[in-house]
Amino acid sequence: MSLLVNLAQLARQAVCLEGRIAPADWDLDPHDELLAISSPVTYSLTVRKQGKGILVEGSLRTELTCACARCLKEFRQALDRENLALYLPLEGEDQVVIRHECVDLTPYLREDMVLALPQHPLCEPGCSGLPSAPPGQVQEPGGNRQPPGRLSEWAALDQLKL
Ligand SMILES: [Zn+2]
Repeated sequence: MSLLVNLAQLARQAVCLEGRIAPADWDLDPHDELLAISSPVTYSLTVRKQGKGILVEGSLRTELTCACARCLKEFRQALDRENLALYLPLEGEDQVVIRHECVDLTPYLREDMVLALPQHPLCEPGCSGLPSAPPGQVQEPGGNRQPPGRLSEWAALDQLKL
């Protein structure tokens, strides 16, 4: 599945694209093991020729499965790209790949989506992270640890022996 637009058709009129792409076909690698796309990407796009490029406008929507960066709890989060506007040049250094008079929009939309991914997913804004230890085991008062004061006393005695 790819989002192909035919340039000859585009030269005559704007093209509307609507549909869904399965997460597997979207092949998004967020470079982050905390994130995965868990539902189909729904798109509604209008593509038109503009100057020496094409303008893609519309929306992309999907749902992510994230792991909280602080407590590792899994949660789902919508990813909405409303008012998406991408200009893809057909000439020059940054020109898009044209094959058989067609441009596949998928890699450019994928790139846009990667940029929109949360950098630091949190299950809730104030997530305090993993508890450091279960209550009651946090401290061992009077445990094996030497209070620092005694250590320095011994150190002082050592000094005297010399
Ligand atoms: Zn969390």
